[in-house]
Amino acid sequence: MTSNTEAPAAEPTPEQLLQMAAELAALRSRIEAAYGAAPRSATQMRLSAASECLSDARRELTAAADDLRRVAAVPADACNWPWGVCPEHGDTLTASGGKTWCRVRNCRHKWEYDYMDTPCPEPTAYTISDDAGSEPKRVCYGHALAARRIPGIAYDPPLPAGAVESANLLENLMKLVEGR
Ligand SMILES: [Zn+2]
Ligand SMILES: [Zn+2]
Repeated sequence: MTSNTEAPAAEPTPEQLLQMAAELAALRSRIEAAYGAAPRSATQMRLSAASECLSDARRELTAAADDLRRVAAVPADACNWPWGVCPEHGDTLTASGGKTWCRVRNCRHKWEYDYMDTPCPEPTAYTISDDAGSEPKRVCYGHALAARRIPGIAYDPPLPAGAVESANLLENLMKLVEGR
């Protein structure tokens, strides 16, 4: 019997998740063998539905293993901000259907997964601090650019001349195009 006060279980490894996925695949094969190629009866329809559920569950486990591998691959000295931004344009990403892309026209940055749900793997380039006394943070160029809206933000070294202006211009243009 588990209780709410118990510490959460340790995070599984990608290998454990893939092992579970393989077990689901084996179970799915057994269920499919039980109803044949063309389900007709109500029972066969239910078995077919159960098989589909297992297929979905297997896909989720595999995707979760991929997520863990990606997070583990982020170097400890990388930016490591809890979510990704465009390395060139900053806060300009959209994620949908398991893909992420930059909304800036002709930007080459896109990912085949939810990059906005992954710690930032970019190298650090700036130390940012605010006037509220928060701990200074080492961040990449994209996150430095995205942080420009924080009141009292300071950069070491300063952002390149024109970077903030062009980012603001870009943002206004995108708002115009998106009708925001
Ligand atoms: Zn971009
Ligand atoms: Zn970053």
